[in-house]
Amino acid sequence: MTNDARAKLDEFFLAFTGAARPSLLLDYDGTLAPFRVDRFQARPWAGVRKLLTCIQNQGRTRMVVVTGRPAAEILPLLSVEPTPEIWGLHGAERLHADGRREFEELSPATRSTLETLPERLRTDSTGGLIEVKPNAVVMHWRGVTPARAKIIEKQTRALFEPLAQIDGLSLLEFEAGLELRAGRDKGGAVTAILEETAGPNPHPTAYLGDDLTDESAFRAIKGHGLGVLVRRQIRPTAADVWLRPPEELHDFLKRWFRACAHLQSNLYDPLLNSR
Ligand SMILES: [Mg+2]
Repeated sequence: MTNDARAKLDEFFLAFTGAARPSLLLDYDGTLAPFRVDRFQARPWAGVRKLLTCIQNQGRTRMVVVTGRPAAEILPLLSVEPTPEIWGLHGAERLHADGRREFEELSPATRSTLETLPERLRTDSTGGLIEVKPNAVVMHWRGVTPARAKIIEKQTRALFEPLAQIDGLSLLEFEAGLELRAGRDKGGAVTAILEETAGPNPHPTAYLGDDLTDESAFRAIKGHGLGVLVRRQIRPTAADVWLRPPEELHDFLKRWFRACAHLQSNLYDPLLNSR
């Protein structure tokens, strides 16, 4: 970690004082959990679930998972209690901790465009995994050869790019796929969350993410909190700090827990006591 990153982290955690109500915003795949070709097998890095559970049990942090997946897919994989709030579908869906669900409704025209896509992708493309979401159609090429990935990408772009010009639809690029979608993106989700937490008390907020889709969130949090790129390799990013998972992610979450512990007195510290 660079000295600049260290200084930014020091400055960030200094704001955990007095009546501070910190918010911890977390992407899931690639950030809390290593990628799996079968995404239903993507479980958190060892130790991460325990750290998140400790932070949740402190009751000081507003923890929010912001994921591209449908929110309900995350709950059994994350398996953290008390359940955090989850913004799914890149922010188009919101699953509250008490189970209430909000979803940005699509216009009939947008819905009918999206409905025709899976069949057209099956006809046009030469492989890849098609995922149908309530607000989007996704083509994934994780796990295929680079040559095959190029072909799938080219054919998917030929279909998605003209449609992305239509009102209400946009193209979302990520590291092993393309999504044609409607609704709020992760930047919009972060802006909405920041607006809700605005108030008299300081609310230090961090957003942790790995993918190109997290860049809108890093831009949204600029000037309001800390953007953290969690990734094995650095890349051009709007984030303030880069952490290599899982070790530096562990260190960050431990530091978060301890910074929150200082907000309370007489706190039992399961991290310190497990040593
Ligand atoms: Mg991710």
